[in-house]
Amino acid sequence: MTVARILSEKGGSVVTVEPNRTLDDAIHLLAEKRIGAIVVSNDEGAVLGILSERDIIRALSRQGAGAFDAPISQHMTASVTTCTRSSTVEEVMQLMTDGRFRHVPVVEDGRLAGLVSIGDVVKRRIAAVEAEHQAMRDYITMA
Ligand code: AMP
Repeated sequence: MTVARILSEKGGSVVTVEPNRTLDDAIHLLAEKRIGAIVVSNDEGAVLGILSERDIIRALSRQGAGAFDAPISQHMTASVTTCTRSSTVEEVMQLMTDGRFRHVPVVEDGRLAGLVSIGDVVKRRIAAVEAEHQAMRDYITMA
């Protein structure tokens, strides 16, 4: 299964934030949208970074409450691993495993086109494994 298929099911809209907004703004966005990471982006839709709840925990442990007013750019990961709509679920799983992160933005022609989370990947993987098991069971019953 490809990322394009995942996006056709879940949609391509992504919660984004500008790099000069504060960590406090990001915390409110994460809570309001019930998500674990925000893509840091500009008006052109370029991916400038990613900020996850882990970055916020790290910032708070380093700077205490003062971190709330810090710009997102100071605490985001600027070197973002991305995928394309034609990437496969297996490729995205490998990226997540190798990089030890749970979110991969989808980029097409230099613009943000969606976001795949570990939840999306696991859901499709379980469905694929269950379909394989069912096919095996059907095959054995027929024999
Ligand atoms: P996560 O597991 O996605 O909450 O993120 C764990 C750490 O990896 C945080 O420091 C994130 O900023 C960073 N991170 C998340 N996604 C990516 C990505 N696609 N590329 C690079 N770093 C990432």
